[in-house]
Amino acid sequence: MRCGAYPAATVALAYASREVVIDDLLPERDPNLLDLCGEHVERMVPPRGWTVRDLRTLVPAAAE
Ligand SMILES: [Zn+2]
Repeated sequence: MRCGAYPAATVALAYASREVVIDDLLPERDPNLLDLCGEHVERMVPPRGWTVRDLRTLVPAAAE
């Protein structure tokens, strides 16, 4: 799912709670987490039965 765009958020998969947790981009790259660009975060479809939890504080304003 990686693309050439600049990552905008860090995504963690919490298997125990079946949650996709989206958070602000981590300053340090964590190989266990996914850094996604804004577009891929928006287009991301959680696995069936999972919920998405958006903890981001730096959500980019919707393009005018
Ligand atoms: Zn992308």
